[in-house]
Amino acid sequence: MANLDKEICPVCNGNGYVLSGLSVYQCSYCDSQGEIPKREASVEELQKMIEEFKIHRGILQGKIKQQASKIAELENVLSIQEYKRKALS
Ligand SMILES: [Zn+2]
Repeated sequence: MANLDKEICPVCNGNGYVLSGLSVYQCSYCDSQGEIPKREASVEELQKMIEEFKIHRGILQGKIKQQASKIAELENVLSIQEYKRKALS
């Protein structure tokens, strides 16, 4: 099963060793593990993610406003109905 927190070592391609001519070297980049902890996202990647989340947040805030006005509208209808019911009884 693939470990989600790790990725294949780009230096040894997951082998744990590197062939150099006739010599075999243990891969020092991944300590012969063949995989490395997932690297941190770059500044550019983080900025892109933040921009995407900001757009998403804007859309959600718009929806929240719509829902809030819908709730206010329904509460208004409810209070009118309650008023009518009290007036009739
Ligand atoms: Zn390696």
